[in-house]
Amino acid sequence: MTFGVEQERDWNALSDVEFRRIVRAEFEGNYPEALKNVPYRMRWSENGAWYLRMARKGWIAPNWPLEYGGMGLEPGKLLIFIEEGERCGIGRFLDLGIHMIGPVLIQWGTPEQQKLFLPEILACEQRWCQGYSEPSAGSDLASLRTRATRDGDEFVVNGQKIWTTLADDATHMFALVRTDPGAQKQRGISFLLIDMTTPGIEVRPIRDLAGHEEFCEVFFDNVRVPVMNLVGELNAGWSVTKSLLGFERIFIGSPKLPEYGLVVLERAVAAAGLEADAAVSDQVSQFAMDVLHLRDVYEKFAERMRRREPIGDDVSLLKLWATETYQAIASYALEVAGEPGVLTTPGEPSAEVLSDFYRSRGPTIFAGTNEIQRNILARKVLQLPMS
Ligand SMILES: Cc1cc2nc3c(=O)[nH]c(=O)nc-3n(C[C@H](O)[C@H](O)[C@H](O)COP(=O)(O)OP(=O)(O)OC[C@H]3O[C@@H](n4cnc5c(N)ncnc54)[C@H](O)[C@@H]3O)c2cc1C
Repeated sequence: MTFGVEQERDWNALSDVEFRRIVRAEFEGNYPEALKNVPYRMRWSENGAWYLRMARKGWIAPNWPLEYGGMGLEPGKLLIFIEEGERCGIGRFLDLGIHMIGPVLIQWGTPEQQKLFLPEILACEQRWCQGYSEPSAGSDLASLRTRATRDGDEFVVNGQKIWTTLADDATHMFALVRTDPGAQKQRGISFLLIDMTTPGIEVRPIRDLAGHEEFCEVFFDNVRVPVMNLVGELNAGWSVTKSLLGFERIFIGSPKLPEYGLVVLERAVAAAGLEADAAVSDQVSQFAMDVLHLRDVYEKFAERMRRREPIGDDVSLLKLWATETYQAIASYALEVAGEPGVLTTPGEPSAEVLSDFYRSRGPTIFAGTNEIQRNILARKVLQLPMS
């Protein structure tokens, strides 16, 4: 079976400079101006047309191997592709099918699962959300309680997930569920693929601080899932999940967000007429230096990736640095903007400062909170004794 669209050329054979030029021209020439740097997670109805274009072009899955319908990019080229997307301000869609489930199925899926799911992910007909977190299982994910009980050729799922990004825009969910309540925490967990149209699923959006409904609660009431949707062995879902923590960790520490924060800050300084204020200039320069240093360190990790070396646990420091610098910059921009920064209506320039402030809150929480990253650094990098 063949997947996806044939590539027009061997991208890895091009020089990095040439590859970057082609990608930049495609993005800059075609990505709609109005969708650049949108300060919230867009829905399929908003940016779906762009991603359908990418799918038709064969560029939807830069990280997948050629034989599975991806672009087959080596790590260095993949990094360029992602950097150019960030540079152009391209907003994500619900792309976990591309970034997470595709690679999982390529590694762990049966031929039937690959045939059933991969072509539809490549065509953007399936859009996947991540059902991990529960009300009492976030950082301590292994204490999750959503149950899946075997009944003939099906699992019957009962329980609740929370903070599921754009679950109401998703066609499918990959979920961690407890299949052996007697086993030790991680041991009794399985990885299940769930069609969101299955009877018994209820999705309730949660309104966030900024007034957007990006998260959802998802309730399961006797939801029947075919046994063939189990990925990997029964009760071995933890290993499947861990395999997702690969190169992706570097992208969470990308300097893109703080760099964008600096742009917003500079605009806020200009709007407040404070360009000549020495104290403000001093602080802005300090942030600019921090972001330059961050980019330098990011490049060192990127170099490891290009050389196909293990990224290492010290990559946690990138996430801390990027997300906390971004928060500090966004908080300062709000301070500089003064009253107009908070007393604002959507569409006004000052609204950008407030929405950037809100947007800077989430990254210290998702993908392993910053406290958990500090634990990793303490335990695995500094090898400090932990109580
Ligand atoms: C923008 C955003 C998008 C998200 N999208 C999704 C999604 O699509 N799917 C999904 O499943 N989840 C999603 N999440 C949820 C996210 O994974 C959890 O919020 C995160 O894992 C933290 O879990 P929690 O909220 O239960 O907080 P808790 O784990 O209860 O933590 C509360 C506080 O205690 C601290 N803490 C906890 N344990 C320790 C420890 N051992 N040592 C030190 N400090 C500790 C934490 O750092 C935090 O400050 C998203 C979250 C955000 C913010």
